[in-house]
Amino acid sequence: MIFTRRHFLKLATAFGLSTNAGPLLAKPGSTSSGPARKPVVISTWDFGLQANKLAFNLLQQGQRAVDAVQQGVMLTEADPTERSVGYGGRPDRDGKVTLDACIMDEFANIGAVAVLQHIKHPVAVARAVMEHTPHVMLVGQGALDFALEQGFVRENLLTPESEQEWRQWLKDANYRPVVNIENHDTIGMLALDSHGNLAGACTTSGMAFKMHGRVGDSPIIGAGLYVDNEVGAATATGHGEEVIRVTGSFLVVELMRQGFSPQQACEQAVQRIYHKLKLRQGNIADTQIGFIALNKQGEHGSYCLQPGFNFALQHAGSAQLHAASALLAS
Ligand code: ASP
Repeated sequence: MIFTRRHFLKLATAFGLSTNAGPLLAKPGSTSSGPARKPVVISTWDFGLQANKLAFNLLQQGQRAVDAVQQGVMLTEADPTERSVGYGGRPDRDGKVTLDACIMDEFANIGAVAVLQHIKHPVAVARAVMEHTPHVMLVGQGALDFALEQGFVRENLLTPESEQEWRQWLKDANYRPVVNIENHDTIGMLALDSHGNLAGACTTSGMAFKMHGRVGDSPIIGAGLYVDNEVGAATATGHGEEVIRVTGSFLVVELMRQGFSPQQACEQAVQRIYHKLKLRQGNIADTQIGFIALNKQGEHGSYCLQPGFNFALQHAGSAQLHAASALLAS
């Protein structure tokens, strides 16, 4: 997602800021791990600022990281103007809004849903899968049946704006994800709570106009999200197929286990994807990948393939949007 004026004005209103982006948008390169701290919450893209605010409030009240991240990303899921997550998300090529989400707590409890239709809060369904089934992932009709059994309400998630865009797309029906432009994007959120525990959540409508049934990285534990409460947590955004290929978020956490800082771990993972992409297809211009990571000490990291990925970070006294540094020059 590019940091558009529309997004800035929305954020400025929410945070009572002037329309001078200075104090909100930190300088590129200032994103390396800061001093250890807790509680802390970090999430992908500019919609993360508002989601973090909600999550951080809960963390400050002493709530668990898993509850904070769930509630935080649900804010984005409910916002019809965010066209890449939840309600109002862009549909697949058949005009169906299909959602992917997962959640992971400090005990390695996991829950996920994929290709879920008609339910505004896929992350809450993922949480219910985690807590009320012997399984870790439900997909498609099975996920919908389960959600309805659990009392979730069936809704139409296709807003007139998304429908209009889909009808426009149908004219040449060319599937072409665009780097940093919001025809895809995910909110991935990681938190370290005041008890020192980590959790994460990840939710998206995936790539706009994808094939019906396509599943990206976001609901796949290890790809779109991974949490190891002894080490750290990571989440991903961008072209899910590439993230899945290297089990991206698990890779970032394992690199932290080996002693890399969150920043170095994100850099290594992006470099791995870059290397594989170059070997496989040569052209990387149309691919974006972004990772964020948080370790047990509350230090964070972020890195992306192409410039343009930003993330939101909130801890005591600071709530900022940061531009992630990128492997490739702009
Ligand atoms: N990773 C998401 C997917 O592949 C999309 C995104 O984050 O841009 O579905």
